[in-house]
Amino acid sequence: MSRIQILPDLLVNKIAAGEVIERPASIVKELVENALDAGSSQISVTIEDGGKRLIRVVDDGIGMSAEDLRLAVTPHATSKITCEDDLFKIATLGFRGEALASIGAVSRLHITSRTRDEIEGNEIVVSAKHLETTQAAGCRVGTNIEVRDLFFNVPARRKFMRATATEVGHINEQLARMALGHRSVGFELTNNKRTTHRLAAESTIRERIGALYGADLAEELIPIERDERGLRIEGYVAPPARSRSTASWQYVFLNGRYIRDRSVQHAIREAYRGLMEHQRFPVAFLFLTMDPQLVDVNVHPCKLEVRWQNTQLVHSQVLSALRDKFLTSDLSPALRADAGSTSTRTDFDPTKAAEVRREAAEFYKGLVPSPMGSPIQATYEGRDFSPSIGTPPSTRPSDIRSDVWDALHNGGQTEENPPRIPTDDVPAELPQIKGYRALQVHNSYLVAETSDGLVIIDQHALHERIMYERLKAQITDGPLESQRLLMPETLTASATDMALLQEHEPLLLKLGVEANAFGEDQIAVHAFPSLLKDIDAAAFMRDLLDRLGEQHAQTSAEEVIHEVLDMMSCKAAVKAGDSLTTEEIATLIDQKGEIEKSSNCPHGRPTTLSLSVDELEKQFKRK
Ligand code: ADP
Ligand code: MG
Repeated sequence: MSRIQILPDLLVNKIAAGEVIERPASIVKELVENALDAGSSQISVTIEDGGKRLIRVVDDGIGMSAEDLRLAVTPHATSKITCEDDLFKIATLGFRGEALASIGAVSRLHITSRTRDEIEGNEIVVSAKHLETTQAAGCRVGTNIEVRDLFFNVPARRKFMRATATEVGHINEQLARMALGHRSVGFELTNNKRTTHRLAAESTIRERIGALYGADLAEELIPIERDERGLRIEGYVAPPARSRSTASWQYVFLNGRYIRDRSVQHAIREAYRGLMEHQRFPVAFLFLTMDPQLVDVNVHPCKLEVRWQNTQLVHSQVLSALRDKFLTSDLSPALRADAGSTSTRTDFDPTKAAEVRREAAEFYKGLVPSPMGSPIQATYEGRDFSPSIGTPPSTRPSDIRSDVWDALHNGGQTEENPPRIPTDDVPAELPQIKGYRALQVHNSYLVAETSDGLVIIDQHALHERIMYERLKAQITDGPLESQRLLMPETLTASATDMALLQEHEPLLLKLGVEANAFGEDQIAVHAFPSLLKDIDAAAFMRDLLDRLGEQHAQTSAEEVIHEVLDMMSCKAAVKAGDSLTTEEIATLIDQKGEIEKSSNCPHGRPTTLSLSVDELEKQFKRK
């Protein structure tokens, strides 16, 4: 009897189906998942031209009989579920019975397969849905599937495939996910006749991470282990200094399946709270094991998301697993000469900065961005907050240059620098700062007097906005000003990174970044935007590639540029916690006026909160 059966329509309708074949990497995913479900111990993947011309997956699993082969390429035919109940205890990667049929509809599909108890195998050829041949064939036990000329019959889809290198990058990523989830299986990837990955069977988690992402990351990882309340969690997380600019380095697996899960991501972020800068994402490899009946995997077209029966339990167990470990670990960054892409900033004290931010946030909670003007709370922990604004000493302290002093004290009025004419072109609703007098509080905020009250400025948000506006203006005139590095900086790069580098070369040049492949797994940065001179070039490049990797196929070049400018501004801007000189404060305040005039497109979060004298008087019951 055949193992594979066609599912009844009623059951088909209960399956969260979707378009699964989007690009070559989706085919690799489906075929390798099938090979894993077939109990293979060795899987080899061969691709040509980024999988566009050929994808071949060879396994040594249970194989298929002649009858099963024919059913395998039929829509909604599967050996993995038979009735609705099965949907609630899925222990295989596949269960929808759609992949092979969908692949056969958009390519030339050739399968040969043999089961253990047959002396001969069988083959089947399907081309754009048409069954062309089925016949006996001599072959080894296991299955060999070849997909050629993807989308040859769907020109619209063929157009959407990206540069070969990009598709290779996606294939690498899919394969890495499956290899991480199935360490007992050996994997091999051959790209255009060159074997690029050879992953030994029976690997430990750490070995596999090392083989995929480099020994230096693997060495620094912190082991995580917990087995409570029916949820087993094992794996590794990286020290805070390894953080990335996107969450794509959080590899989370449930019963061997790679998943994206908001509650797990949230728990990871919570565990690292205060240990890293805002907007950074920890690197983590977490493997969760639980009874399949306690989670629904039939919710997402690509089976990337799941629905937990008890989300709270998953969240709290992941959080505790990490937190407990951190309490007994040394998380300080490993300061090494060859730290490469590791951030080596030593002047940033994340714990202190987080504390300041928390306090400040607490205090400013009641304040509302200026355009809206609503109730204002100016007390903190029961104390009145009355910063002494705008009364600089009347004689110039010796550590302040005279021109700066003039700027600060006389509103910039010197002989060479006549007073700025009160501007009519500043929109009336914007509170205008009087002169350049401002006080820095908590090394994070600037408080300044305005014509009708006072403003509190977030120094980082303001500086970031200024940078953004300037970069935006500059880039319309040509490439950003760039500076050659004395010694190129190198960073470890994956095949995906290499592909992104190639694909985005024009963009990078525009941004003043000159970088190229250096050996097989390194990228060398030769020139770098002058604006970012104080920033670690390798770390910047790392973040940039991560961001570019997150872009969708349809993102426009314009959007990509703006996203990158955004990131550059954020990096180049002063941080919360940076102490500013009087001169720096004056410059910031000065530029604030400039951007408010020039920009009519508000960007990002608010930079300024304002309090009018009127409001103050109401609050103090003078009115
Ligand atoms: P699904 O994996 O959801 O069942 P597929 O279309 O991917 O659907 O595969 C259909 C069926 O073909 C599977 O249920 C399985 O029985 C069989 N099959 C596919 N690939 C293999 C393989 N590599 N080895 C053995 N059987 C396979
Ligand atoms: Mg499948």
